[in-house]
Amino acid sequence: MDWKAELPAIAPVVKFDEPMREHTTFRIGGPADAYVEILTMDQAKGFFTFVKRAKLPYFLLGWGSNLLVRDGGIRGIVVRFRGEFEKIEFLEDRRVRAGAGVRLPTLVTECAERGLGGDESLVGVPGTVGGALVMNAGTRDGEIGPLVRSIGIIDEETLEFKRLERKDFHFSYRHSNLEKRVILDVELQLLAGSKVDILKRVREFQRRRQETQPIHTYNVGSTFKNPPGRYVAQMIEEAGLKGMRHGGAKVSEKHANFFENERDASARDVLALVQEVQAKIRERFGVDLELEMKVVGE
Ligand SMILES: Cc1cc2nc3c(=O)[nH]c(=O)nc-3n(C[C@H](O)[C@H](O)[C@H](O)COP(=O)(O)OP(=O)(O)OC[C@H]3O[C@@H](n4cnc5c(N)ncnc54)[C@H](O)[C@@H]3O)c2cc1C
Repeated sequence: MDWKAELPAIAPVVKFDEPMREHTTFRIGGPADAYVEILTMDQAKGFFTFVKRAKLPYFLLGWGSNLLVRDGGIRGIVVRFRGEFEKIEFLEDRRVRAGAGVRLPTLVTECAERGLGGDESLVGVPGTVGGALVMNAGTRDGEIGPLVRSIGIIDEETLEFKRLERKDFHFSYRHSNLEKRVILDVELQLLAGSKVDILKRVREFQRRRQETQPIHTYNVGSTFKNPPGRYVAQMIEEAGLKGMRHGGAKVSEKHANFFENERDASARDVLALVQEVQAKIRERFGVDLELEMKVVGE
């Protein structure tokens, strides 16, 4: 079967040999064999039926804000949920349903405008709902996990829509058991409050981020997870590694746990810098740093 010839009838947006640097906030990454956008539930069912039948590998892409895609790119089909999956519905009792493709800054501000809070600290996480659930995105002031009531997925066996309830999912620090699932939407339980107060907190979180993070550079947020009881950024700074470079990649001067693509960095540059920093931190503190960003592709 020539899957490349069949794909355009299955998904409305299809691109072949698509550079992944166009789809990651790092602006790094070789080509995906194919990139598709899925806009409706019917298209999603059709697509997953197709890849199952053809035994094709696929990769679910959110905003690409936590991904380092290797220079050889991604084999198989990269899938992004847009259209219907970018909608937010406001339900009863302070519940909100958001599609997998909704971005957190949009979700948090739309909720705030309606006097719904509890999620304010997530306003500066640039990713989508799908990526935020997989990563249990969060800050020192709160994570998405505790707000989740249920998650809509496509069941991998039946290819039918299914809702996961709290007993089905688990969240811990930048981790969940959702990695292999196809997430379509989430239902969150928020808190009612004064719109003015909630918006004030949202702006405060935005302001703090502007001050402390290099948000106008190409990066993927925190490179490493914080080891128990310590802050990686502080350790990297104490080790004198701020501003360290490998090729086009650099340890940020503003926030040492952010690595920047300063000058056309390759994934190889970033990975070399990661290893150098890990080795220096091991030497100095005896701590093995674990990656928070996900490295994918070949
Ligand atoms: C400037 C900046 C600041 C950041 N600050 C924070 C922060 O404060 N806290 C924090 O936690 N993170 C932060 N991040 C990292 C990143 O935004 C989060 O990890 C975010 O949750 C990733 O979402 P995404 O949509 O970009 O996912 P992607 O990076 O595209 O993908 C991440 C993972 O989710 C999977 N995935 C994506 N969509 C789906 C889906 N629909 N179904 C199933 N799996 C899916 C992917 O396959 C991949 O495994 C920051 C990043 C940047 C660039």
